[in-house]
Amino acid sequence: MDRLSIVVPCYNEEAGLARFYDATSTVCAGLDAVVEFIFVDDGSRDGTLAALKGLAERDGRVRWLALSRNFGKEAALFAGLEHARGDYVAVMDADLQDPPGLLPQLLDIVRGGGYDCAAVRRVDRKGEPPIRSWFARQFYKIINKMSKTEIVDGARDYRLMTRQMADAVLRVTEYNRFSKGIFSWVGFRTKWVETVNVERAAGESKWSFFKLLVYALDGITAFSTAPLAIASVLGLVFCLIAFFAIIFVIVRQLLWGGSAFGWPSLVCIILFLAGIQLFCVGIVGQYLAKTYLEVKGRPIYLLRDSGGGDGHEGKA
Ligand code: UDP
Ligand code: MG
Repeated sequence: MDRLSIVVPCYNEEAGLARFYDATSTVCAGLDAVVEFIFVDDGSRDGTLAALKGLAERDGRVRWLALSRNFGKEAALFAGLEHARGDYVAVMDADLQDPPGLLPQLLDIVRGGGYDCAAVRRVDRKGEPPIRSWFARQFYKIINKMSKTEIVDGARDYRLMTRQMADAVLRVTEYNRFSKGIFSWVGFRTKWVETVNVERAAGESKWSFFKLLVYALDGITAFSTAPLAIASVLGLVFCLIAFFAIIFVIVRQLLWGGSAFGWPSLVCIILFLAGIQLFCVGIVGQYLAKTYLEVKGRPIYLLRDSGGGDGHEGKA
């Protein structure tokens, strides 16, 4: 029988974990695959870890990993993928925003052989603040214009993939991880399953608007070097303007003399150009910062502890 690993990053999910586990294991009971759960506690400050240990005691299919601090969802996901042993690997959130009911369908799609991955995208953003949805839509528009890697609008991280694709994702070991981009970048054939937006079952979203904005910028700089090109193009355009302006000033001086006009505007132009230069240097700095982090080759996460999975049958 095939083995299916379900990787679940958890950060302060105490309130909803039991519900998630119940709902998911009910669905899994109907799957003709041996299931293992890999819960990754991403340095939670509530009782998440204790709850996970409880689940592992009751159900031998549950394994848990506890990161030494909060490394972020991307790192937790990576940790989980690294420890998944199944022939198929599914990734889902702990808040029931990724409906477990879709698992059989996802598994069937991948087993059918035509696809290496079945992924879920939501077709609406009901229940989300409108301003956040608007920014999200703009983000997808911009990143898809700037990057060769396709980032699907509304794609969730909820997906089920073959061992081969999971291994491919693990070979992308960059520190600045933008999973939606990485899943797309590794290629393979992905089938998209559409669903409506589901609101979080319990607890709170870990993503403030500011965090999302930083994440969006991370995504753009991780998968596109277009901002660097913008800097060069802008620099070139302003050099040309300056060149013609200088010619104009020289000609005016030769023909009419009296060069003391226009100092205020000149000062404005100098300031403007200095601003543009700083702006461009800032963009270059962004990439430099990322290169710096990559070059340091830091581990993506550090494991504090892990356990469970000694194989005794659970209550499910
Ligand atoms: N998560 C995590 N580490 C973090 C933030 C989030 O492991 O630093 C997990 C979280 O427990 C959940 C998933 O990532 O299982 C998605 O988080 P959330 O529901 O807050 O994001 P949203 O659905 O609002 O985008
Ligand atoms: Mg959520």
